[in-house]
Amino acid sequence: AQRIVVKVGTSTLIHSNGKVNLQAIDQLCYTLTGLVNEGKQVVLVSSGAIGVGMGQLGLHARPEAIPAQQALAAIGQSGLMAVYQQRFALYGQRISQILLTHDVLEYPTSRKNALNTFERLLEWGVIPIVNENDTVAVDEMDHYTKFGDNDQLSAIVASIVDADLLIMLSDIDGFFDKNPRKYPDAKLFERITQIDEEILEAAGGKGSKFGTGGMTTKLKAAQKMLENDKMMVLANGADPAIIFDLMKGEARGTLFA
Ligand code: ADP
Repeated sequence: AQRIVVKVGTSTLIHSNGKVNLQAIDQLCYTLTGLVNEGKQVVLVSSGAIGVGMGQLGLHARPEAIPAQQALAAIGQSGLMAVYQQRFALYGQRISQILLTHDVLEYPTSRKNALNTFERLLEWGVIPIVNENDTVAVDEMDHYTKFGDNDQLSAIVASIVDADLLIMLSDIDGFFDKNPRKYPDAKLFERITQIDEEILEAAGGKGSKFGTGGMTTKLKAAQKMLENDKMMVLANGADPAIIFDLMKGEARGTLFA
């Protein structure tokens, strides 16, 4: 794959005690810089803004109210970008910030403008770091997307830039036939070729304390990729260097293809 979208979840970026996982972010920046230096074009979709905002205000539970979440995202987004800026600079990698909403594909002019921006950044060897523009995204009642769902946003980004591969990093080794946190005998799917009812059922409900999507939104993202004849890998982001193994063609996590 030449053009890769990497999505990293809150559970990878924020410790369960609420602290930013600087080690994971550092590893991620090191790894993605390595890919760019190999000539790959890399887009990072990063969650974590609300988590960083919660940390800055000393909150221990995610507030229910959407405006509070939006405000926390606004607080945390700049903090998160400051961390990325600093860590990527260690490796001499330039970055940029792109904030999008899920409806970008529905407006041809917006889509075209977004693509033009991505193209130029990628041509310059800059990594775009994408997040949902939470200040204006209030679609929580929408039937196919919901507030803070960067899983599906990452598939939308992959579609805009026509990426061959979406790598989704989470706090779990891949997609299992049931939630491995509840059922120790859960079995990992090594490869999934289509998303059917049975697969969707295995996804169960919401995930971790700080994560938002759980598996359902990851499967919807996979479905979008499969529809466009593109690949997605769901793998554990505890060690982001796993991306190097994936690029060598080694089997890690769950391959959707
Ligand atoms: P992220 O913040 O990385 O997007 P989430 O916390 O939203 O991650 O989702 C990952 C979580 O989904 C896992 O930690 C696990 O608890 C839960 N989960 C539910 N069903 C499954 C399944 N079938 N296979 C793997 N994980 C599952």
